[in-house]
This record gives sequence, C-alpha cells and structure tokens, in this order.
Amino acid sequence: MLCKSCKEREAIIFRKYSGEHLCLPCLRKSLKKRLRQTVGRFSLLKEDDKILLALLGFETEKPAIDLFLEMERDFPGVMISCLACDEKSIDIVKEFGIRLEESLSLRHSTRWDLIIEASKQSVLRARDKNFTKVVIPLLLDDAVGLFLYGVLKNCYPALVINGKVLLGGNATEPPVVTPFFRIPSEEIMLLEGEEWRPRDSLLQYIGELEREFAGSRFNILNSYHTLFLAKGKRVL
Ligand SMILES: [Zn+2]
Repeated sequence: MLCKSCKEREAIIFRKYSGEHLCLPCLRKSLKKRLRQTVGRFSLLKEDDKILLALLGFETEKPAIDLFLEMERDFPGVMISCLACDEKSIDIVKEFGIRLEESLSLRHSTRWDLIIEASKQSVLRARDKNFTKVVIPLLLDDAVGLFLYGVLKNCYPALVINGKVLLGGNATEPPVVTPFFRIPSEEIMLLEGEEWRPRDSLLQYIGELEREFAGSRFNILNSYHTLFLAKGKRVL
C-alpha cells in the first residue's frame, strides 16, 4: 500500500483511528507536527524556558527525546538539563549529548509509581534550581494509563490534563508538562524500527483495547478531559 501523504513510498503503518497509510519519513513528519501543535495549542513551552527533562528509562524514551530535541533546535534560547531517574537514561543523555543535572535511583514497584515519584522529585529539584518547566516524556498510552490507574485506585495521584501533569489534582510550580501526550507509543517506536511490546499489564490492556476498538485511547483521553474540565477537579 502506498503512503497516503507522499504517494511515493511504501507505507509502514496503517493508522486505523484516522484511516491513513504512512511511510516512515511521513510518519516522522506527522509526529513532529503533532508535537509542535500540542506545544502551541496548550501553551506548554516558551522560547526562553529553562527545562528540567525528567528521564524515566522507558522504551519510548529514545525516539521521543530525539523528536523533542529536533523541535527544540529551532529555539536556541531554551536551556535543557536532565534528571535521570533510571540507569537506562544515562545512555540517552550520553547519546544526545544533553547536560546531566543529576542522576537518581528511585524506588518504585510499578511504572505508574515511577512516573508519580519522578514528577514529584523533578518539581522539588526544578524549584531549587530555578527551572521554569519540567518536561516528562509521557505518551498517549501513559496518559490513558495514569487515568485508568487512578480509576483502579479510586484516587488520582497523577493525571495528564491538556499536556500538564497534575499531582493530586493540582498543577505544580514549576509546571510538569508532556508535549507527547497525543502520540501513540507504537507510532514513536516505529521511528526506531521497533515494535512496541509493553511489559506493564495496564499498557497491554490499553493496547488490546485499541486493537479491538480503534481510537479508544483518544476517546478515553477526551472523555476524562471533558469530565475534569467541565465539573472541576473534585470529580476526579
Ligand atoms: Zn510518505
């Protein structure tokens, strides 16, 4: 099947939720555009931000950071330094030549606990060192997963609302933002030529749901946003 966008190359992905067939260069272009649009639409970043980039060692991290740094190259006034919350992230720091602010070893039992703890620790360090933003690479599946994790626990320790990570229902100072929250994990993994095979059971469930009902991740994301924004944070 030919790519629907360039109509030249062979497609490597069929986006069931939008009906598009895309080749690798057009997929990359499309994800970069979505990243930029997300930053603009939700006012997530500024041209003179001092960013503390929290790295969690997730499988999606390398292609996400690659795309992010490519976007940020157009903004020379932005300063980026990393907080490596997992050993695996040290390789990313070295590979991309990013400044390492600090390396932490966080104790956690699940992926979701790591996200919550890393967000909290990042805010504390960012506040101490006058960073204006914390950026955390959470994708669409992570945003949906945090919501479902909250449903299962009947409390919401962390929730992605319009690209900002709220801790305990509240915005933090400085804000924790994720410009990747509208990007599906399997699409960003394809940029590395890899298939996305999550080990976490909640992510596996979200993947099965998406395969069965295309677009369900965006539906869940939009539904809990509507609920949160229409009725206030007391609902969640
Ligand atoms: Zn193409």
